Amino acid sequence: MFEAMNLSANKNDKKIEGDAEKVKCLIIGSGPAGYTAAIYAARANLYPVLYEGLQPGGQLTTTTEVENFPGYPEGITGPEMMEDLKKQASRFGTDARWGIATDADLSVRPFKVTIDHSKLIEAETLIIATGATAKYLGLEDEKKYAGGGVSACATCDGFFYRGKDVAVVGGGDTAAEEALYLAGLCNKVYLIVRRDVLRASKVMQERVLNTPNIEVLWKHQAKGLFGQGVVEGAELFKNKGEENEEIVKIKIDGFFLAIGHKPNSEIFKDYLNLDEVGYILTTPGTSKTNVPGVFACGDVQDPHYRQAVTAAGSGCMAAIDAERFLSENG
Ligand code: NDP
Repeated sequence: MFEAMNLSANKNDKKIEGDAEKVKCLIIGSGPAGYTAAIYAARANLYPVLYEGLQPGGQLTTTTEVENFPGYPEGITGPEMMEDLKKQASRFGTDARWGIATDADLSVRPFKVTIDHSKLIEAETLIIATGATAKYLGLEDEKKYAGGGVSACATCDGFFYRGKDVAVVGGGDTAAEEALYLAGLCNKVYLIVRRDVLRASKVMQERVLNTPNIEVLWKHQAKGLFGQGVVEGAELFKNKGEENEEIVKIKIDGFFLAIGHKPNSEIFKDYLNLDEVGYILTTPGTSKTNVPGVFACGDVQDPHYRQAVTAAGSGCMAAIDAERFLSENG
């Protein structure tokens, strides 16, 4: 399968030394979407090669307990679940490797993908499962309290804050959704909004404003967090940059970021149709992109659900679509 040939150029005409490796099915990304695609592709004899990317195991490796993935009645930690998925994919022959896709040329088949700026892969089919990265504010305290009260996923971590007070940062649909979800679990939810309006859709705004245990802190921005080892509160700027600027403190146990996600689609943007945020557009009900033979699954194409189980489901779709594409196109 791995026929060697000398190939020296990609779309930027950068010289890549060495031989290109030919693969039937290249999967980029190692979250639930990537590994599920790998399980299905391996069982369909597509001999998938999977590159794990910047964060092997994906976003789930940054969460503690996963309690909503079907099949784990007692829950499982994110890293353990990803290890299980990797083992399952490897059991059927997936070649999972360390490495980051740094460039891509999808203008013709086979598609050319550069790994770590140095290795060239030629792929008959490409499954993009590169995920999305939650945006953070860039505060030092977000790192200091990572795993100790700071989270970018209420659905993943909200349960641990039952009966407590928490804050959500953001004013879009995600922030509204996260605040409403947390309001059902927590004693009180502060919604920290930097302007005096919400960006969220009208219906979500109404829900937020009509939920008694959500308090919107208009024109507030996070300055920092405090607490002994774990988050015990936040310091906020009120009216930042204005004459009546002041600093206020709130007591909270959880600090949730909901200021948007960045889909990891940058290297494909010259070839694939993306929405205005950068999510890869797929034909509804399939994983097909606008380039035949290139499929997208998981969070890189999903601004709505962003769950491990939906990512896994779309990974399965991508592998089946790739298998059918190869049987129809050789
Ligand atoms: P958005 O970009 O829509 O909103 C981001 C929010 O975070 C804005 O309120 C923004 O403030 C705020 N923000 C950004 N940076 C900072 C910062 N540094 N400090 C403080 N606040 C900040 O992202 P979403 O993730 O909410 O939504 C993305 C897309 O997905 C949207 O199109 C949305 O409609 C869609 N979506 C749909 C859902 C649904 O239909 N159920 C659910 C979730 C998302 P500002 O307004 O001032 O710019």
